[in-house]
Amino acid sequence: MSAYDPNNIFAKILRGEIPCEKVFEDENTVAFMDVMPRAAGHVLVLPKAGARNLLDIPQDTLATLIVSVQKIARAVKAGMEADGITVHQFNEPAGGQTVFHIHFHVIPRWEGASLGHHAARMGDMAEIRRHAEKIRAALAAQS
Ligand code: AMP
Repeated sequence: MSAYDPNNIFAKILRGEIPCEKVFEDENTVAFMDVMPRAAGHVLVLPKAGARNLLDIPQDTLATLIVSVQKIARAVKAGMEADGITVHQFNEPAGGQTVFHIHFHVIPRWEGASLGHHAARMGDMAEIRRHAEKIRAALAAQS
């Protein structure tokens, strides 16, 4: 497996070199909207610490990350008024990973609605911002 590359796009977002539509940040974690959503309200949750994927992430980083994934999943479900949540996490190109800074996909689901394709087309940024607002409001209501 290759070493962590600090020039991957999510590392650049974490350093503020590239913009994102952020919905959550704490000491260890950042969550922002996926720009190619597989469903309305698709969020990515990642650690601030650099790790390539599940295969190299230190256990303590993973432990705090998965707690944030749960927090975001609850907020996405509430904010998007979803029926369920799908969590995806891909490892290495053969596993479907395209950005090599570990992240969990938190995707709202509705009864009878199938999932869109992975990283297939750019979403509408105005719509993505509206969904981010709903998720931020649900997070504010959690605390
Ligand atoms: P993965 O295949 O799990 O590595 O997925 C990477 C995800 O990152 C895909 O769902 C992309 O749509 C998403 N993505 C790529 N670039 C950006 C970006 N600049 N901001 C937000 N999401 C992105």
